[in-house]
Amino acid sequence: MKSPRILFWHRKDLRLGDNKSLMKSLEISHYITSIYIFDSNSQLDFNAESRKWFLGESLKELSQSWRHSGSRMIVDEGEPIKLIPKIAKLINAKFVAWNKGIEPYEIRRDFEVKNELQRLNINVLESLDHLLMNPSKIFTGNGNPYTVYGPFYKNLKSKLIYQNFKKFDLSDLKLIDLEQNIIDNPLIRSSSEKLKKFAIKNKFIGKSSCPCKPGEKAADKLLNNFLSSKKISNYEKARDFPAQDGTSYLSASLRFGTISIRRIWDQTSNLAIQNQSGLSSIETWKKELLWREFYQHCLFHFPELANGPYRKKWSRFPWQNNQKCFTRWSNGETGVPIIDAAMRQLNHSGWMHNRCRMIVASFLVKDLICNWQMGEKKFMQFLVDGDLAANNGGWQWSASSGMDPKPLRIFNPFTQTKKFDPICEYIRFWVPELSKIPDSEILNGEISQIGSISYPQPIVNHNIQQRLFKSLYAEI
Ligand SMILES: Cc1cc2nc3c(=O)[nH]c(=O)nc-3n(C[C@H](O)[C@H](O)[C@H](O)COP(=O)(O)OP(=O)(O)OC[C@H]3O[C@@H](n4cnc5c(N)ncnc54)[C@H](O)[C@@H]3O)c2cc1C
Repeated sequence: MKSPRILFWHRKDLRLGDNKSLMKSLEISHYITSIYIFDSNSQLDFNAESRKWFLGESLKELSQSWRHSGSRMIVDEGEPIKLIPKIAKLINAKFVAWNKGIEPYEIRRDFEVKNELQRLNINVLESLDHLLMNPSKIFTGNGNPYTVYGPFYKNLKSKLIYQNFKKFDLSDLKLIDLEQNIIDNPLIRSSSEKLKKFAIKNKFIGKSSCPCKPGEKAADKLLNNFLSSKKISNYEKARDFPAQDGTSYLSASLRFGTISIRRIWDQTSNLAIQNQSGLSSIETWKKELLWREFYQHCLFHFPELANGPYRKKWSRFPWQNNQKCFTRWSNGETGVPIIDAAMRQLNHSGWMHNRCRMIVASFLVKDLICNWQMGEKKFMQFLVDGDLAANNGGWQWSASSGMDPKPLRIFNPFTQTKKFDPICEYIRFWVPELSKIPDSEILNGEISQIGSISYPQPIVNHNIQQRLFKSLYAEI
């Protein structure tokens, strides 16, 4: 008897290698066709030009990989609840397979699609692919979800057994394509046109300055470059300095699933076994990978995080939300050099260094007294790695409204500059107006208005704003 046809639905797993649900599908049949849908109900994947670029390029490569394997990827746009059952029926699929998401919308959507498929007698294969641990399988001693990173990290780390990852050899993948009469259906025929149209509409001009690179091959290269060069052993020292090439730039690859988190974890663990000397740096990097995991678990257990503060008292905070100040922050025109450099990096390249994300977030919330959700939204409109869980987690951490047990964290942007950009290299790169200004003036934020320099005076005074913020905080 002929093996059953499977429709494999790609979402945030834009790769073939070490793809859990795809591997599960291969155990059943080699008659596999894939699909990607530009989901009209959730634009999170492509409501930033940078993510549109990353997604479009990654899909182009993925579509070619499916052709190399002997099969194809269908591309469509619309509502998955209508399209998935329709296309599954069209290609006579007996199974539809996908990797689960943890975002509130993803859970709702998958539940509805699953019900509809079951009504049509089509089986569903689901796996959890993008995390190291299923969030329903790790709890505190009292049986509650973790809300503090430290104990979460300790427990999770003890459970992550080294799996000795075996590379999934893509050249071995031999799939069986659809029958010609189905391929000729306009819905299937129009796929490459739809993909091309999506890519052509993209206006992202920052690709060359964006350090994240789309596609499965580029993700592999980024990982190998990070693990095989000195970068990983310098990570502990270099990761906080935005002028240094000190981090992996894998955030967008993880966000879109062009790389497997298990593969990253295993290769890193393997390196730790061989390379005892850089152990502490390797451990620091693994801790960062587990921050990603932590925020995903938090959003899964507390979906209300997506809509507001975890600590409820923050809903009563008397935000000033001054639109002019927000626009100056957003455009990188605050007169505070590190803030302006970082925001210009974001606007131009679609990415921002982690240290700077923390500094600009603290500045928006605690100096400009704007609701952190305004910043969260701005980041999602620009970040190439914009991810609901990580972005929300980062903003709530910076605003002190989240799960960080420290009650009030305020960053002084000038102290941060002295520590992490002491010779103002990062600032001068992104704010060229300051190229001839001496370090001492940039570091203190007292830039003399000489010659033709048009750099604004700081829009606020940090010390005054800090006092004001604290007094407002006392009210809640
Ligand atoms: C306000 C704010 C917003 C943020 N928004 C996002 C976002 O939308 N998407 C996103 O992926 N990261 C976000 N981060 C986390 C972090 O800044 C980026 O993951 C990191 O800068 C990406 O660079 P990298 O890949 O070179 O990181 P590396 O230092 O090489 O770290 C490796 C990986 O670990 C994960 N990681 C590292 N730090 C964190 C962290 N603090 N929180 C969660 N995951 C982490 C990322 O997946 C990253 O790719 C945010 C942080 C803050 C403070």
